Amino acid sequence: MSKFSSLIACKCPRCQEGEVYKHGAFSKDFKAMYTYCPKCNLRYELEIGFFWGAMYIGYALSVAISVILGISTYILANNPDTWVYITVIVTGVLATSRFNFRYGRMILLYLFAPKFSE
Ligand SMILES: [Zn+2]
Repeated sequence: MSKFSSLIACKCPRCQEGEVYKHGAFSKDFKAMYTYCPKCNLRYELEIGFFWGAMYIGYALSVAISVILGISTYILANNPDTWVYITVIVTGVLATSRFNFRYGRMILLYLFAPKFSE
């Protein structure tokens, strides 16, 4: 399995087999993570407050989604009123917020875990 498909599947960045999250993205407890990888015992929170940095990545993902939805609305709806843009973008960002939260953490983990695990 490639690193990218492991990231998409929310697998451990070192062994690419252990789960990172305890439940699925649609679960009520979608934020619950394992402290250690169930397979290779990698500690996911690499240092204290490590996942604070995931907010920046989640924010960048939200901005990217907003830009994509804004341009799509402009093209598909032929430049509608401002309230249409606001409705589409707010709905889209809210609908993808769980994924932004989870993938913000996963991207951060994949960026820094290789440096900590050697
Ligand atoms: Zn692992």
